[in-house]
Amino acid sequence: MINEKKLDKDLKRVMPSLKEARIRRNKEVETINFQIDPKYINLGKDKTYFIYTYGCQGNEADSEIMAGILEAIGYKHSEDPLLADIVLLNTCAIRENAEQRIWGVLGQLKGRKRNNPDLLIGICGCMPQEENATNKLLESYPFVDIIFGTHNRGNLPKLIFDAYLSKATVVEVISGEGNILENTPKVRESKTKAWVHIMYGCDEFCTYCIVPYTRGKERSRAKEDIINEVNELVKEGYIEVTLLGQNVNAYGKDLGNGEYTFGDLLFDIDKTGIERVRFTSPHPRDMDDRAMEAMAKCKSVMPHLHFPVQSGNDRVLKIMNRKYTREIYLEKIKKLKELVPGISITTDIIVGYPGETYEEFKDTVSLVEEAEFEGAFTFIFSPREGTPAFSMEDPISLEEKHKWFDELVEHTNKGYLNGHEKFIGKIVKVLVDGESKSGDGMLCGYSEHNKLTHFKSDDLSLVGKIVNVKVTEAKTWFMIGELCE
Ligand code: SF4
Repeated sequence: MINEKKLDKDLKRVMPSLKEARIRRNKEVETINFQIDPKYINLGKDKTYFIYTYGCQGNEADSEIMAGILEAIGYKHSEDPLLADIVLLNTCAIRENAEQRIWGVLGQLKGRKRNNPDLLIGICGCMPQEENATNKLLESYPFVDIIFGTHNRGNLPKLIFDAYLSKATVVEVISGEGNILENTPKVRESKTKAWVHIMYGCDEFCTYCIVPYTRGKERSRAKEDIINEVNELVKEGYIEVTLLGQNVNAYGKDLGNGEYTFGDLLFDIDKTGIERVRFTSPHPRDMDDRAMEAMAKCKSVMPHLHFPVQSGNDRVLKIMNRKYTREIYLEKIKKLKELVPGISITTDIIVGYPGETYEEFKDTVSLVEEAEFEGAFTFIFSPREGTPAFSMEDPISLEEKHKWFDELVEHTNKGYLNGHEKFIGKIVKVLVDGESKSGDGMLCGYSEHNKLTHFKSDDLSLVGKIVNVKVTEAKTWFMIGELCE
């Protein structure tokens, strides 16, 4: 069902509905072959675009698709956002501070719009899927020209066309379960590393998370489409792919009889000849034996796993609706370490969940030690309206949560350092990304275990290649080494 509001006689707004977004129907997912209506083909002629991207790798991949669509209708990329004719903000809704940044950027864009009324401003991504955010945009930021959701990307040419004709904000935010859009053009940021979506949406409904509402139901791309994409990337000289999905290892559950799993897909991707495969983010519950076997046997699958645990306490995991226990999580890690010796495991942790006690928090600290994580993204709980956790009782003060957070970070930082120290004296294979930010004649890139590695060299021809580096020094956030002949 589409929630429509009449705007004027020609234009209707399609508004988001969190109630609608919560529904999961048992109907087949539609795969749509993306095409551009010829009437939009020159819409961007002699005009430029700029896309601001916030949030996860999924959003980065989505921005590459939107850039592809914009270029297909004639727009050219502007290096300078201040000179662009259309500016898109691809937003994130996972935490409140992600949204705060958007309000800040919009404040700056307001002045630009005043000086240049022809500038088009569009807001897309997860934020518009929230009713309150879209209502706030319409009420407080009327200079925004287009608001569209995660399921409406394919309609971008028409939305731009409508925005050029309309004085009012064009809104199209469908809250359904979503479809699969194939054959979209893409402008990839890198010539060596590529994002490849293998599935979309999430059906887990962890009680703190807005993603199942903003991204729709779990829907897997056909394996043939994924393999074809990776084959094309190999032909174009790409070295690494990162397989993307909100719940990446639930891949295949919604296809046919569910017999072809994420692990099977890893085995098939390995046969394409791509050198490196990474994936994000897996759910511990869906990490099955076949996926672990693929991680052990496929040469291309890198020995690093980002494995979000969120908490080390069973009661907290239960109220988070994570569907595993501390014991099950640790068992899976143990098995993985046996199958993939030396594997580096990193995680996500939420501190100060509603109702969490200090003793329960200490279980998370002890799990960090026991699991020997080599890195963690740690967050203080951020309530998201529309999720069950938003209305849970939360007696612990923010100040107290900050103290817990600092205590946890001491342990996770130690893990980062330990993870780097174990490579001292060893030779690691680094895929070179470019010059180090420090700019002192150093290049940098990531090792197979996903460790950021810097080494002395000014030979830019190494960018995009895999080189051997002997690690000489370990820091908390990176390793330093010497280029080997
Ligand atoms: S599995 Fe991940 S994306 Fe899905 S609801 Fe849980 S935290 Fe959100």
